[in-house]
Amino acid sequence: MSITPLMPVYPRCGVRPVRGEHCHLISEDGTRYLDFASGIAVNLLGHSNEHLIGAIQRQTVTLMHVSNLYGSPQGEHLAQRLVDLTFADTVFFTNSGAEAVECAIKTARAYHSHVGHDDKYELITFKNAFHGRTMATISASNQEKMHKGFLPLLQGFKYVDFDDLDGARAAIGPNTAGFLVEPIQGEGGIRDASDEFLKGLRALCDEHDLMLIFDEVQCGVARTGTLYAYEQYGVVPDIMATAKGIGGGFPMGACLATEKAARGMVIGTHGSTYGGNPLAMAAGEAVLDVVANPEFLADVTAKGERLRGRLEQFIGNYPDLFELVRGRGLMLGVKMKVEPRAFVAHMRDNHQLLTVAAGDTTFRVLPPLVIGDAEIDEFMDKLSAAAASYNPEGPAT
Ligand SMILES: *Cc1c(COP(=O)(O)O)cnc(C)c1O
Repeated sequence: MSITPLMPVYPRCGVRPVRGEHCHLISEDGTRYLDFASGIAVNLLGHSNEHLIGAIQRQTVTLMHVSNLYGSPQGEHLAQRLVDLTFADTVFFTNSGAEAVECAIKTARAYHSHVGHDDKYELITFKNAFHGRTMATISASNQEKMHKGFLPLLQGFKYVDFDDLDGARAAIGPNTAGFLVEPIQGEGGIRDASDEFLKGLRALCDEHDLMLIFDEVQCGVARTGTLYAYEQYGVVPDIMATAKGIGGGFPMGACLATEKAARGMVIGTHGSTYGGNPLAMAAGEAVLDVVANPEFLADVTAKGERLRGRLEQFIGNYPDLFELVRGRGLMLGVKMKVEPRAFVAHMRDNHQLLTVAAGDTTFRVLPPLVIGDAEIDEFMDKLSAAAASYNPEGPAT
């Protein structure tokens, strides 16, 4: 047999983490890495946050799991907190981002069905989006590399250019249910939508009674300096998917909706065995305890500005390698003039610095939100050394 026991769907690199300490990961062989990837925007409290660990430990010994057939004081409490902190009136808890987006898609279709429009099932989505790896969420993205081998796709998605309001308007037809959009594209290369674009989508939704769905799985949960990125745009969605950072490393997600948008999500329409179980709720509460406060959020913004300022100054030294820095808060992307994957591997293997490659020749800088100046200094030192020693024509490491 030649297949590996772990289904070989990932091109796994040689880093094999076995322990985490604050903003560092320690590999099986003892090598210490600075983690500016955070499990792709997940470990926002770093790797050994006592508040998060304590909450999970306490809940583990009290009650780990019960079915959604029973009342959930834990779920009600966290849902109420999210309702109080956001635009939403109601929350469905999931175990992942893709499931949160799935629930958002179902909520939008169910809304139109509920008001007598079974024909309004189509969502307009945006090129180079990433919404997850289930059949519905790959169907929601135009990226053919995710479709190959899995056809036929789920019907009911139409792709238009990101940040192109005229294109979005022109795509509206008799079957349109709404728009599904990442306010800041993550995998697509940290591309933030313009204010006019998101405001324009909101206006189109109001005009045509469509659902505006934000996928904040990557940009949400304090990553950009506000609890959710939509707050910075002054644009309120009808439905929102959140996950990644929301459990601080515990697998968890949620679909948030207004009362109007959730009209069709009545008893029997949706479910999840694990979704919202007491252990996940304890993790979610612990994360909110830390991040949902104005000082923490202001600190993320300030650190993001410091890091961005230093990155912008630095890339000027290597005009052949780097083009620009973009993003918000601690969700930053460096657009390169060369293929970023080889440079990400070089930073990782030769300078023990973890970042994440993305689309549009960009690498992502997604540190834990609890970094301090020491970690920013260490990051800049490693990045400088990596750029100085990099030969884009050299053999890939
Ligand atoms: C990661 C991601 C997802 C999918 O989340 P999973 O937990 O991997 O299912 C969906 N949307 C966006 C924007 C993401 O970044």
